[in-house]
Order: sequence, then C-alpha cells, then structure tokens
Amino acid sequence: MEAEAAGSPRSRAEAASGRVVMVVERCDEAALTLSRQLSEFGYPVRIVPGLDDLPEAVAQVRPAALIIDQDVAAGRSLPALRAVAGFDCPVLVISDRDDLDSRLATVRAGFDAHMVRSEPATRLAETLDWLRQQNRADPYRADPYRVVIIDDDRFTSQVMALALQRAGFQATVVTEARSVLEVLRAVAPEVLLIDIHMPGCSGIDLAAAIRQMPGFQHVPLLFVTTENSPEHRMLAVRSGGNDFLTKPVPPDLLIATVRARAEWSRQLNATLGRLSESGERFRAVAQTANDAIIATDESGRIIYSNAAAQRAFGCDGRELLDSPVLSLVAPAHRSRLLRLLNRRGQGSGRRTAELEASNRCGGAFPVEVSVSSWRAGGRRYFTGIIRDITERRRAAERLEDARRLADAANAAKSVHISRMAHELRTPLNAVLGYAQLLQRHGPLDERQRACVAHVLSAGEHMLHLTNDALDLALIEAGKLRITPSALDVAVLVGDCLTLTEPEAVRQGLVLRNETEGLRLPPVLADSLRLKQVLLNLLSNAVKYGHKGGTVTLGAELVAGGSHLCLSVADGGPGISPAQAASLFQPFYRLPDTSINVTGTGLGLSICRLLVEAMGGEIGVSSTAGTGSRFWFTVPTAP
Ligand code: ADP
Repeated sequence: MEAEAAGSPRSRAEAASGRVVMVVERCDEAALTLSRQLSEFGYPVRIVPGLDDLPEAVAQVRPAALIIDQDVAAGRSLPALRAVAGFDCPVLVISDRDDLDSRLATVRAGFDAHMVRSEPATRLAETLDWLRQQNRADPYRADPYRVVIIDDDRFTSQVMALALQRAGFQATVVTEARSVLEVLRAVAPEVLLIDIHMPGCSGIDLAAAIRQMPGFQHVPLLFVTTENSPEHRMLAVRSGGNDFLTKPVPPDLLIATVRARAEWSRQLNATLGRLSESGERFRAVAQTANDAIIATDESGRIIYSNAAAQRAFGCDGRELLDSPVLSLVAPAHRSRLLRLLNRRGQGSGRRTAELEASNRCGGAFPVEVSVSSWRAGGRRYFTGIIRDITERRRAAERLEDARRLADAANAAKSVHISRMAHELRTPLNAVLGYAQLLQRHGPLDERQRACVAHVLSAGEHMLHLTNDALDLALIEAGKLRITPSALDVAVLVGDCLTLTEPEAVRQGLVLRNETEGLRLPPVLADSLRLKQVLLNLLSNAVKYGHKGGTVTLGAELVAGGSHLCLSVADGGPGISPAQAASLFQPFYRLPDTSINVTGTGLGLSICRLLVEAMGGEIGVSSTAGTGSRFWFTVPTAP
C-alpha cells in the first residue's frame, strides 16, 4: 500500500482541500476499495494501518472524517479515541452487518454513523457530506448556510438577521417584494423566511410563486407571522410552506429551526447535484458511444435511446420513445430477444446474443445485443447495447473465402510439387546409376574419379531433397497414407540403430541404447513412417553432435501409459529456445550448426507432420552449448 509523506505536495494539497478521509480497515483490499469509491466523490483517502497509528496520522493531516471498521473499533468508544488521537472530526463505522445489535453498538460507542459495506458508494458519500455539515466544530466549514428573510418590517427582519449572522449564517434581508426574485437568484438561499403579511403582496402568494421557479421547488420555506390561527397555518402549509414561526421568534428557536432546515436543504442539494451529475455523465457517454444503447421498462417499452440507436434504426428519439423494443427486431428473432431478456438466475449480469435487427424502412442487419437488467423504485429495467456486426460478418466471410482460396492454392502447389518430384526422380536415378557404373568399372584417372564422386554426392543430395519435397507435398495435400499397426519398439529401435551405426562410427560417435532391457509395450504407428522419424532424429544427432561424443536413445511411458515417448539426446552445440520455436518449419536451418553439414532443412518439419498424423507430438529441449534432446510420442497399442 502506498503511503504519502506528510509534507509532500500531494498531502499538502489534500490537507488544504479539507476533505481528507482517514480509513482504518481490517484488510488492505477493503481499504483500497473504499479509497477508490470515495475518490470518485472528491474525497482523498489516507489509509491508516491501525488505531494505534491514528495519533501520528492525524498530526500530519487533519481529517475531515474518519471511517473505522466495526471489528477494528470493537471495544473502543469515540470519546476515548478522540482523547488519545486528538481529532474532532465525525467518525463513521463501517461494517458487514446490518442488524439492530451492531447499529446499537455503534450508537452506544458514541460513533456518528453506521454504514453497511454492501450499500452503494453514493450513500457513503452522502453520509460523509451530511456528517461534515453536522460537525459544528468542523474548522473547514467556510461555506455558511444562506438564508433570505422576506419581511417588510425592517426592524423585525434585521433582528432576525442579526441573530442568524451571530450563529454563523449568511442572512440577507429583502423588505420589498419587487426585489425578491433578483435577490433569490443572486443568493440561491438554502432557507427562506417569509412574512405572511406584506403590503401589496401576501407572503402565501409569494411562497406559491417562488415554489414554481425552477431550482426553488425544494427550498425550505418558513413563514414568520404574528397570526397564529389554525386557518393561517393550513393556508401556509398548502402554499408549500414547511414550518410556521410566530413573532416575536425567540432567537434560540429561530436558530435551531433554521439550522435544521438548512442542513436538510444542503444535504438534499448535494444529493440532487450528484444525481444530476451522474445523469449528465451517463448521457454524455451514451450519446457519444458508437454502439446503439436502448433502455426499456419491464414491459419492453423503450424509455431511452442514444444517438447511435436513432441512427441505426432510422428514427428520432421521440419515435422510439414508448415503442416496443420487439419492433426493432426481425420477427423470426423476437422470441430469442424475449428469451434473452427473461433469462433467469443471472441477476444483473450481462447476456449476449446475435440477432437480426430491422430498421424503420424494413431493412434487416445483423447485430450483437448485450442486455443487462437493473432495478429502481421496485421495478425492473433493461439496458441493451446493440452493435451492428454487418462489417464483422463480411470480414469473417472474406477471411473464409481467402482461406478457401489459399487452401486450394496450397493443394494445387502440393500436387505440382509431387508431380515434379516424380518427374525429377527418373532422370536423377539414371544420372546416379551411370555415375555409379563409372565409379565401379572405370577406367578413370584420379581427376575423373574425383569428378564422378562430386556427381554422385550432388546427385544423392538432390535425390534426398526431391524425396523430402515429395513427402512434404503428399502430407500437405492430405495424400500421405498412414497405416498404423502394433509395432515392437525394441525391433524398430534396433533396426534404426543398425542403420545409423556406420555413420556414427565414421563421425567417431558412440550410440547408447537406453531402451535395452526395458519392457516397452507395442506402439500403434505406421512402421515405415515411425522409422523415418527416428532415423531422422538419430542422423541429425550424428550430424550435429560433437565428434567423440555420445548419442543416447531413450524411451519412457507418458500420459498415464497412453503414449510412449522416444528421445534422442546428443552432446552437440545445443539450440536456444528462440531457435527451437522455428526448428520444425520447412527449410529452416540453424545458421551456426548447419554451416558445414549437408541438409535440406525439411527433415524435422516432415517429422512433425508424420508424428502428428500418427497421433503424437514432437519437441526439443535443449540448452545452447550443452546438447539437445529431441523427443516424440506415439500412442501405445491398446
Ligand atoms: P537438415 O538436417 O536436413 O538441415 P532438419 O529439418 O532435420 O534438416 O533440421 C533442421 C535444422 O535443425 C538443421 O539444419 C540444424 O541446424 C538443426 N538441428 C537439427 N537437429 C539438431 C541437433 N541434434 N543439434 C543441433 N542442431 C540441430
């Protein structure tokens, strides 16, 4: 958790704002959640690890309020905490419990409020606003309550204004009804005191007129009059008055009544302000969204549509308002939308489906609809985010067409390569045959013998390349025939080692067979292809292994005995992880290891395709400089 130093610019700014809330939570996660929520409402949060750390924290930054976890505060009273930590701000207890016992515990310990964690963050912010206003000792309350007194009696109104000003209110007096509107607009009072009897204008009419002004519907109106008859009171209440004070009003009663109304008024204004702010924020986001957003009531009638929705469905907001949302969906898809709306058991979770929407001109277009539901005032509402997926569908179709084309081109290429390889092999075999005849039966001098040896070596390399290309083309064209049968691994391993032995000897390498003596089960594979894979790995190990080293062939059962893993390890130069990733791609040869070794770069890619076609996997583990271990798996025979 990050803690800000007391003297840092941020902490100085926070302290100056007078809104720092200190949080003492039982766990970091809960503290961070609170911190995030409160910062959204303009309350910077200081997380304090425990109650013992409060005195130091309070000495650094004076808090506007404190929030303490109920379990952390258990057994402590607010006066005791205040005495030790030296703070005078309100303290709110936060808890998971909402029962009467825990609420009573909060009250008995003297704390100012009890909040339940599951309540929305707006409630917490409202409570904090409220507590800060209640806290008369709040040294930061630089914003006194605004009161306007409308009374033609200069003396009485001045006396009341003075009493209120002494108690910290900002009191403005209006003695002439004509200037009332101007003053009201300039002062934006939180409480209005109105004399009922004024020459030329009754206070009751004036109150009714003020109530009709935008922004003044909720301002508390207190009538001040010498009349105290029940009829008068009734009239006053009917015209929108909230209270009735009889002249002369004792200053204490005046101050207490005005303060109570002013606190309520400010709290209400803060709540309304927040509501309208969040409404504006939602509207701004929704109106600029590229996706259509539509909200409906429980019966599916549209109660809101954003600009994108109006564009997509070709009608303005008024046309959409109150119309059934089902009318925006193609008839064949309406039952699906209904199912989406009524899907139970998901609370307010999001549900998504692809549907066919229809606009006002009858045009249909595919959409992806995400629906979420919410509750307000005991009713259920739905919000749908509707994304036009015409382009997405087209792109997917284009991609599919391109894939089909590429597959066809690939198949044509494979057919072409396999034909060419066949055609090449016939003359190549003739070249090799005649070169062998020349080599055997001469007569050749030294230079001619060397030339024939070159022809033979190049011809053999070319034949190898042609055979590999043919294999690859056959596999890619899906024409490779794999005929699996139960094979004895010991026989297969023996054959491959015998074939590799002469070259290993030539290279000064020792072949070690670690499968000897193991009782390996038969495997289910194509005998020819399995040998091809193992021979390729062995011949690579011999080709790329260090002279005088050892090549080790091992085997073990893997995947619970369903597969046998055969491995070939060498003490060669090894392969880095980055190189290993490309090793099984056609024509890839490592620049360092293969520089003086003949090869085509096709062997391992063919091995991969063959192993996969037989139901196994192939891979390599290696550390550069310490050799490689190539392995592959094949299914064991049932
Ligand atoms: P080729 O051996 O014909 O070049 P492969 O597909 O069998 O083709 O191998 C591809 C590349 O992988 C080789 O060129 C070589 O660089 C590298 N390689 C294969 N086996 C080993 C090994 N045991 N040790 C080091 N490098 C290897």
